[in-house]
Amino acid sequence: MGKHAGLNTLCVHAAHVPDAATGAVVEPIHLATTFERDADGEYPRGYRYSREGTPNRTALEGCLAELEGGSGAAAFASGLAANMAVLELLSAGDLLVASHEGYYGSLKQFSVFAERRGAGIELVDLTDAAAIEKALARRPGRARLLWIETPTNPFLTVIDLERVVALGHNAGALVVCDNTFATPVCQRPFDFGVDVIVHSATKYLGGHGDVLSGVVVAREGGALLERLHEWQRMAGAALAPFDCWLLRRSLTTLALRVRAQCAGALEVAGFLARHAGIEQVFYPGLRTHPGHALAARQMRGGFGAMLSMRVAGDRAAAMRVAGRTRLITRATSLGGVESLIEHRASIEGAGTRVPENLLRLSVGIEEPQDLIDDLDQALK
Ligand code: PLP
Repeated sequence: MGKHAGLNTLCVHAAHVPDAATGAVVEPIHLATTFERDADGEYPRGYRYSREGTPNRTALEGCLAELEGGSGAAAFASGLAANMAVLELLSAGDLLVASHEGYYGSLKQFSVFAERRGAGIELVDLTDAAAIEKALARRPGRARLLWIETPTNPFLTVIDLERVVALGHNAGALVVCDNTFATPVCQRPFDFGVDVIVHSATKYLGGHGDVLSGVVVAREGGALLERLHEWQRMAGAALAPFDCWLLRRSLTTLALRVRAQCAGALEVAGFLARHAGIEQVFYPGLRTHPGHALAARQMRGGFGAMLSMRVAGDRAAAMRVAGRTRLITRATSLGGVESLIEHRASIEGAGTRVPENLLRLSVGIEEPQDLIDDLDQALK
């Protein structure tokens, strides 16, 4: 693909060629788990056994690496399986520094698995440089991973990638960015020096609520990428061929979908910010958001399509609003073509930092005015 190809062009054409055997323009689905050897015992076509590699996974990973501007990618059976491939880099005595705020499943995974393998974990406010430096210095020379999620789930806090990457690299850490909320359409973490990108591809990359999947993309090839592929082969949570095919097909419309979703989210956020029934809106595209100026510099392709709101009143008031939407579906998850609303504290459960009157909204591709009308009637 040409170096300067636009995003929509990449979405359609990256790592995609018509099938050599049949001329089929759409990639065939190869469900085979095993591949034939030549008479001399070799595998000249490059495939041996599908846990190790399969044509649909090759095509998907090639496309994802190009979309993020990395050297290579590894596709897994869920976002948490992708995280796990990176957490596997931690040895006993190492340190993982991450945000105190982010997807609760990742935070839980960090504490359980990092600690179980004898690594330390420091959860800090990643908007506070002094706190990050202090955390990284807790185990001098052993800060292995610095994990960023931006914007965060569900508060939409924007983390300064360039600044945090510099702090991480100073301490010798590998810097990881969860780019699930922003997608490569809005934000390109490798441009800011990030080393590894992870995604819950279940969300925007899949985009249709029908593929559980995760991805790791490495900026550089070499040992790190090889280690991720080794984990894929040996831990075995690689993404299945049909899911790879579905995901690659979804990527053809990624930029179209996400750009439309961002435009819709901006309109919906503006409406909510002016509504008397709403106490606070969290959306980086609003000028009133504390991370707006940073987001404008860092999220060059758009402010994303996730937003949260605090309903005026208590938990019951928030539940009532969510209970009255007609078009917007009450469900967890995000990033799909259909808008979803969720009472976040109740899904996170005991110990959550999320206020009881907070609702999270994933804006889909519906007409923004229809979403606004739905929210308006739900807030009456
Ligand atoms: N990262 C973020 C930011 C998420 O929102 C999620 C899921 O909601 C995950 C990772 C985990 O992904 P999965 O549910 O595909 O395992």
